Amino acid sequence: MALPSDGQPWNNPKVRVGDNPGVAPQLPQGCLCAGTYRIPAMPNIILKWLNDLGTMSTRSSEDFCCDECFDHAWLRALARENKGHTGRCFYCGNRAALTAVPLFRNGLDNLLKDYIPAFAANGDGDPYLPSVPVIEAIQRDWKLFSTRCSPERLQRFLPAVFKGDPESHGRDFGVPVVPFHRNAMSTAFDRWREFWFIDPKDSSDWLGQDAATDIDVVGTYVNQKAQHLRYFVRSLPARQRLWRARSEYVGSSDWDCEPLPLSQMGHNPQCPASRLNLEGDAVLYSAESEKTAVAEIRPGKGFICTTCELTTTRALEILDLASPLTEINPFTTEHLSWQLDLQRVARNISAHIAKPTSRGEDPGVYNKVQYLAMIVRAMKLDGVRFSSSLDAPNGVNVALFDPTVVEYSNARIVVVTSTEIAYESIQPQRLAPGSKP
Ligand SMILES: [Zn+2]
Repeated sequence: MALPSDGQPWNNPKVRVGDNPGVAPQLPQGCLCAGTYRIPAMPNIILKWLNDLGTMSTRSSEDFCCDECFDHAWLRALARENKGHTGRCFYCGNRAALTAVPLFRNGLDNLLKDYIPAFAANGDGDPYLPSVPVIEAIQRDWKLFSTRCSPERLQRFLPAVFKGDPESHGRDFGVPVVPFHRNAMSTAFDRWREFWFIDPKDSSDWLGQDAATDIDVVGTYVNQKAQHLRYFVRSLPARQRLWRARSEYVGSSDWDCEPLPLSQMGHNPQCPASRLNLEGDAVLYSAESEKTAVAEIRPGKGFICTTCELTTTRALEILDLASPLTEINPFTTEHLSWQLDLQRVARNISAHIAKPTSRGEDPGVYNKVQYLAMIVRAMKLDGVRFSSSLDAPNGVNVALFDPTVVEYSNARIVVVTSTEIAYESIQPQRLAPGSKP
């Protein structure tokens, strides 16, 4: 069975994060992110004093950096908005207007709450990520610093940011850490464990559950999953343009062809079971670009296909599993670990939905995703937005449960001029005798 794309949590928990984002995580004593304290904003008078101090000094100092030190847009902008005297940047060597590094303390304090010492993590580490000092971990996970910066000098950055801060007295920035949201005992990701590792011979039992009834019963599996998924509900505005493609056309060759009529560009009227629907449930698969729509019908080079545009006729509420990662600012997002945990859930569900299968016949993948679709329908949403694995990494699909919420226009013929093939050898596998897929 497919494993989660970025690993699994541990079984032997020592720390936990509450499912309720309003409950502060309980952490072991002495860890980097211990407690839920808020460091008060750095008073302007102190920042001014630090800047004045820099003006008096001609030597570069670890207490100052420049906006060129950062790749992360938020840090870069903050540095730019607060720059003072000109000098040589200690971290990147640039001669520029400098910014006092304690300015970044509040934001970094928020980010560092998602890191715990590896010794406090379940199993003393993370199975997929190495335990490294926090400066390396935040660079690996968030790409904060520019490659201009000297890695040796960056070791002094966090001590300089938190210098003189009574709340962080005794922080050891050299201790190897791992991300908290991946290692807490009770994560949202963990609650989906059965979904990630579902046994294909049991999956049909899932489809027997009554999602429409369970959705309102607190504590049921469906209700719990819906609570997680609600974080990723977005509005798709009316008049949104989408594309759809079909592998058929009218005619017999490229010198005798016309697009299919628009009346034939809708969903399959027979409603066969498919990735996000049981047999009999209508679902209209579309994409946010014409290229993605064509890629999704898996054409060969030289194939002639019909494409058309779709326009949504009203605002839609959809489960957005395609872009949750872009919206988290680790410096300002409250309950960062909880949000990152949920994102991990969304990213892995999205990978399951998009997973290409051999000729669309993998019942293990299909049943799982069909079960997810039952929950989404029970949530009374209009559809699901998810990444395309056939037009990776930027292609996005939108599956709509009500095919009548779009208007069709501009059908045209396209011919596929290029496809890319890569492959690898795999070992033949069989289910155990007697097991039913
Ligand atoms: Zn710099």
